Amino acid sequence: MSGLSKSPWIIHYDASSCNGCDIEVLACLTPVFDVERLGVVNTGNPKHADIFLVTGAVNEQSQHVIRNLYHQMPDPKVVVAVGICAATGGIFRDCYNISGGVDSVIPVDVYVPGCAARPEAIIDGVVQALGVLEQKRAAMAAPADTVCLGNSNRR
Ligand code: SF4
Repeated sequence: MSGLSKSPWIIHYDASSCNGCDIEVLACLTPVFDVERLGVVNTGNPKHADIFLVTGAVNEQSQHVIRNLYHQMPDPKVVVAVGICAATGGIFRDCYNISGGVDSVIPVDVYVPGCAARPEAIIDGVVQALGVLEQKRAAMAAPADTVCLGNSNRR
């Protein structure tokens, strides 16, 4: 994380959570875990956010909001799916209006396990997200011909 030049700003969206994971996200922000003391800022504006935290399974209505928020965030950006519902649809995955986890609509970089996801696991997921964010920043800053495309024949 040494290369980060500013505090990571987070936006949180509840895609259709039972509220369990959302309470744990709030626990991270409030005094017991208090991630703001580590420089993490919770914002309501996707244009200011680096990290997109999503809780709950994706349904017919929330998929449009997720796409909208995601596309408003500047690059580089990282998506964290918090809890098993956000990862796979969880216990709601067979419901008539659920399309699955967050990765059914946008790319997900980090999956935080749990039902509900524990605050320690969410903070760990955010730390992983910072590493991914730094890699994406470095890739964007590198000249195009030095970026590894994952295929040695394509250099
Ligand atoms: S993972 Fe569990 S606590 Fe979190 S939204 Fe789903 S059912 Fe609720």
